[in-house]
Amino acid sequence: MRMGQVLRFQKPRKSDQTLCRNGHHKWRPVKEDPFAVHRGELVTRFRCEKCGKEKVKAT
Ligand SMILES: [Zn+2]
Repeated sequence: MRMGQVLRFQKPRKSDQTLCRNGHHKWRPVKEDPFAVHRGELVTRFRCEKCGKEKVKAT
């Protein structure tokens, strides 16, 4: 089993990262989140499609 199966990052594009630096991230919810279950918290994790940055939002 390889880590690549879990971590599927898209290659960042330079033009998109310019938008990210200006705060225009393209957030998508991360469905596979073992940590949220581990903590017993109802949170949704989001990952930016462009730069791979993550944020957590309480639900
Ligand atoms: Zn971004």
